[in-house]
Amino acid sequence: MHKIFDSHGHYTDEKFAEDGLALLDRLFDGPVGAILNCSVTYQDACNALKLARRYPGMYVAAGIHPENVEESTPEDLEKLRTMWADPKVVAVGEIGLDYHWDTPRDQQLFYFERQLQIAGELDMPVVIHDREAHGDTWELLKKYRPRGVVHCFSGSVQMAQDILGLGMYIGFTGVVTFSNARRPLEAAAAVPRDRLLLETDCPYMAPVPCRGQRCDSGMISYTAAPLATQKGVSVPELIDICAENAARLFGIKL
Ligand SMILES: [Zn+2]
Repeated sequence: MHKIFDSHGHYTDEKFAEDGLALLDRLFDGPVGAILNCSVTYQDACNALKLARRYPGMYVAAGIHPENVEESTPEDLEKLRTMWADPKVVAVGEIGLDYHWDTPRDQQLFYFERQLQIAGELDMPVVIHDREAHGDTWELLKKYRPRGVVHCFSGSVQMAQDILGLGMYIGFTGVVTFSNARRPLEAAAAVPRDRLLLETDCPYMAPVPCRGQRCDSGMISYTAAPLATQKGVSVPELIDICAENAARLFGIKL
């Protein structure tokens, strides 16, 4: 089949406001079989669910992103509960920690920990964002041992092995195509085939040779290429392997 499963996109981002529907029509008519659209706030999750209702292959991760905690309230977590019960919502995400910007860490830790607890209660997989916060992220993952994926992985080989030890998956974006990709590719080498996910993080992180353009799920073959070489398989094979992995993790029938 060789249909792409993009396990991490943001099609509710304003960069898709104008032509997002036409683009998604084209992608689902073409190379893309499934997309997990990740949300960053309660309102964004509402928009993502509305979008997912239009496309049989589109699914939602509903959650509060670490960079959006200041515009969120604990009541949003209660409102999200009805969304997490929806069959189109297959994960709690995007959640985690981002210490790159000045977003207050105590608020980030509150929402991250609370959503890890809820994911455990609901037995749902999580989509984890960890940027320059490996230590605190690892402490909480170790404590709650969620099912799920650490997305756009940027850690060391050792951290990849620790995460795999918890039974989690690891997702790679277009970053593996960048000229300075030695570190993510080293980490990818430590990830067995059945734990690897392919993702875009679109509209961001466009792979080489599309750098500077708005990213979309159709570009994922570029990201698959260096990973396929490393695993000794063809690009279509790698796309299939990662689609099966994503379907297994998120409980989706392809
Ligand atoms: Zn994301």
